[in-house]
Amino acid sequence: MDLKQSDLTPLHEAQRIVLEAARPLGLEKVAILNTLGRVLGEDIVATRDNPPWDNSAMDGFAVRWEDLKQEHAIGKPVVLNVIEDVPAGKVATKAVGPGQAIRIMTGAPLPRGANAVVKVEETEPSAHSVKIFKAIDPHANVRPQGEDVKKGECIIRKGTQIRPAEAGMLAILAKSFVLVSQRPRVAILSTGDELADLDERFSEEKIINSNSYGIAAAVQEAGGIPILLGIAHDQPEALKEKIAHGLNADILVLSGGVSMGDYDFTKAVFQELGAEMNFWKLAIRPGQPLAFGKIQGKLAFGLPGNPVSSMVTFEQLVRPAMLKMGGLRSYGRPVVQAQMQEKFSKRNDRRHFLRGVLTREDGVFKVRTTGEQGSGILTSMVKANCLIDVAEDIEALNPGDWIDVQVLNHDIWTNEPPPVSSGHGTHCC
Ligand code: AMP
Ligand code: MG
Repeated sequence: MDLKQSDLTPLHEAQRIVLEAARPLGLEKVAILNTLGRVLGEDIVATRDNPPWDNSAMDGFAVRWEDLKQEHAIGKPVVLNVIEDVPAGKVATKAVGPGQAIRIMTGAPLPRGANAVVKVEETEPSAHSVKIFKAIDPHANVRPQGEDVKKGECIIRKGTQIRPAEAGMLAILAKSFVLVSQRPRVAILSTGDELADLDERFSEEKIINSNSYGIAAAVQEAGGIPILLGIAHDQPEALKEKIAHGLNADILVLSGGVSMGDYDFTKAVFQELGAEMNFWKLAIRPGQPLAFGKIQGKLAFGLPGNPVSSMVTFEQLVRPAMLKMGGLRSYGRPVVQAQMQEKFSKRNDRRHFLRGVLTREDGVFKVRTTGEQGSGILTSMVKANCLIDVAEDIEALNPGDWIDVQVLNHDIWTNEPPPVSSGHGTHCC
């Protein structure tokens, strides 16, 4: 039976409490080659201009544009004396004077006296001179000093996640080491007498512990370091002992044992450990029962045991906390509006997170569910590239309705979505 809405905590309220409790971790210094995906812990300020000097954007001849601007430059070639040859990596020793040119390669510093470069294609070079057929603009084909980066400017802000572009820029600025946020260490504990781990012999009545591995991967995807504590039996002492091992980490995530069953001890144990805990019945589906608070200053989450519920609640609560602790400035997934492709209705006023397949067809985002949505159906997550966020007050969706979608990965740019077959054939979907 559904609980009354008044008994349930709205997700946004739980998220506010979790984010308030999550504090950014400290910094560490890493080498540039290890910065991809890390979050910058310092502002990067340019200590020099880039490019450091005016340089040629083309292979050609460095000239004084004044020499080419005369009437006869149009239609009639101008002949200049070539006084030097400057390959990239070399600096001209002479200055370009009136009637002179210096042969120059892309990237080489512009010689003194020159103020433009003529492309080699627009010339007819011979041994010591060059014929130029066209007038050019002042500064043509010259990349001015500081056009990319000016000394003293903040080029990358603290809190930026490093992508290839930032890594390249760090190299330009000669930063071989930078300060980044420490990665949150997340201890993961699965609870339940029915569980068997992958390295155990398991009999038919056992269920394989999948949550530890799904959550560990989610931790890594969010930039954290998973610490697997294994499985705790449904006994308060066993639970307490395992939790103690996890308190060295920054975050503790338990799965299972948060409901009202006879063997659900998470709540009692969290309380015994002196935690200031919130025990929520969240107004979401999947993932209603959830515990959150601090134990000895560490964030502790008790997620529901059903595999989909644990993943969805991780997404909505643990991941944002991790991103904040890891120094990022925003904590959500990208959200797009998409056109629903099927009918959906719900009987309660909880916020639903349907597992969905998002596609982009003729420039429009479209979304449909992955099929069966039970909280034990992990294939619904396997097939999904998004979560369809159906707000509390939406009772029904019809094909064509617009709906918010949280994008889980970027594999959405195809007109050919993966099939959502529930067939039992041997073909791989
Ligand atoms: P619980 O929240 O402990 O009542 O568990 C709810 C359901 O989730 C039960 O069917 C459990 O068997 C299942 N479950 C709990 N923990 C795990 C886990 N680590 N891996 C896979 N399924 C689990
Ligand atoms: Mg259990």
